Amino acid sequence: MDKILVTGSAGQLGTELIQKLCEVYGSEAIIASDINHNAAKKFPFCSFIALDVMDQVSLKKVILSENVTQVYHLAAVLSASAEQKPRMAWDLNMDSLLILLELAKELKLDKIFWPSSIAVFGKESPKENTGQNAVQTPNTVYGISKSAGEKWCDYYYQHHQVDVRSIRFPGLIGYKAKPGGGTTDYAVDIFHKALSGESFESFLKKDTRLPMMYMPDAIQATLDLMEAPKEHITVRSSYNLAAMSFTPEEIYLELKEYFPDFNINYVPDYRQEIAANWPQSINDLQARKDWNWQSKFDLPQMTKDIIINLPNWLNKI
Ligand code: NAD
Repeated sequence: MDKILVTGSAGQLGTELIQKLCEVYGSEAIIASDINHNAAKKFPFCSFIALDVMDQVSLKKVILSENVTQVYHLAAVLSASAEQKPRMAWDLNMDSLLILLELAKELKLDKIFWPSSIAVFGKESPKENTGQNAVQTPNTVYGISKSAGEKWCDYYYQHHQVDVRSIRFPGLIGYKAKPGGGTTDYAVDIFHKALSGESFESFLKKDTRLPMMYMPDAIQATLDLMEAPKEHITVRSSYNLAAMSFTPEEIYLELKEYFPDFNINYVPDYRQEIAANWPQSINDLQARKDWNWQSKFDLPQMTKDIIINLPNWLNKI
């Protein structure tokens, strides 16, 4: 039987992924974990363990005592926060992955999931339709850690047969948890302001186009990749994945359809420079070919879905 441990469960991705994993595999098969002890209350429907992924001894103990067969390793410092504390971000993002890959090798874990990011691309990468193997010149500590992490994943697969699978996520947009310090967080925050009748201040310029994905698509992609037969997985670094691309002005205009009095102003900060070096659109042909990836949500569909559902979640996040 599969027993799945998720690290960094209390974050934006983990909050929604845990719910879906419980639906698919049954609550008894899922262990949520996070360094934040208070996160236990988020997961009354499955086991929760307070766990620092940098603590190799405790991580190994949990894997052994709970008979864990798969780990979804989500704990990380995101792009904007990482620029504020680069050394700490490098240590967490890099060391925790290496700790886990070593444990996967030693304990012969069945599968590992580790998310990468479009932040692996940079100034010299093509901006449009950025390919699976496009040149990576990350210029943020987050991007450097994800780029190096992808290479470690590939290394552990090639040299130690660790079945590690990864997706280069674009900016993720969900309404069930607060975003955790990424450069695309504005696309979550803007919904809260629109609903509360406040005006919105964008930290990116109005025409900054970035690849984005609605959380249900990201969760489905994660499950599809993890369920794909091993022989179909041809990319052991990380798969490009795409759903939609938009600018702050475009999401604002979409929201204005529902909230005609909604206002936005643009006050770009240090995150503008991070965004300016990222791709505007991603080529995800390889994921489509290998495990039939297909996104379901575009900007209008996502906007409608969030506006319908967010009011019921406001007191839970
Ligand atoms: P988040 O910041 O919302 O959540 C991260 C979680 O990790 C938090 O709950 C935090 O408490 C926990 N954590 C921090 N240090 C820890 C430690 N030492 N031990 C255990 N837990 C620890 O992040 P997210 O948005 O949920 O992202 C999850 C993963 O997806 C990350 O690897 C991130 O790089 C990747 N990703 C996210 C996005 C996005 O837009 N959110 C895009 C691309 C990739």
